[in-house]
Amino acid sequence: MNGTIQVWRGDITTLNVDAIVNAANSSLLGGGGVDGAIHRAAGPELLEACKKLDGAKTGEAKWTKGFNLPSKYVIHTVGLVYKKGSSEVQRQLAACYENALEIAKNQGIQSIAFPAISTGIYGYPAEEAAEIAVKTIKRKLEQFPIRIEVTLVAFDEKTEQLYKKNLEG
Ligand code: ADP
Repeated sequence: MNGTIQVWRGDITTLNVDAIVNAANSSLLGGGGVDGAIHRAAGPELLEACKKLDGAKTGEAKWTKGFNLPSKYVIHTVGLVYKKGSSEVQRQLAACYENALEIAKNQGIQSIAFPAISTGIYGYPAEEAAEIAVKTIKRKLEQFPIRIEVTLVAFDEKTEQLYKKNLEG
């Protein structure tokens, strides 16, 4: 694996990394949860930059600068609204992580932090989402051309424990 994966609990907007990932909606124009927190911390220039992106589809990712954030970039990816029994959801959640890491590769980003995409308002069960996040990132880092430090940001203790369990296993 070319890089490291660590777990950290707290507010992603405070992290001094090259890029933080935003769990956005398809408009890419802001919303609640982590999306709202990122827009508040980055300031109004982020919304102006997002308006030029013309939205994104589920699983896609697009980047902007970080403006007032300590991070240089924000990578906006669109999570999915969880539907029980849908075979598509696992693939779509994995695509969020994969496409964000593709951008990191192309932009020469050496450190990136992810929130637990789709596990808030979008309702993805935390256990399954943590497993997919860890598996997908590990798989992607196997073929990564440069070393990258990945931080999985947990906003609550349960998510922190789930990440730790999956990283050990
Ligand atoms: P989604 O719509 O993709 O479900 P949410 O923002 O509702 O996105 O939630 C995604 C995850 O981000 C949840 O686990 C939530 O607890 C977490 N979260 C919310 N605010 C922050 C924050 N400031 N920093 C890190 N994680 C956050």
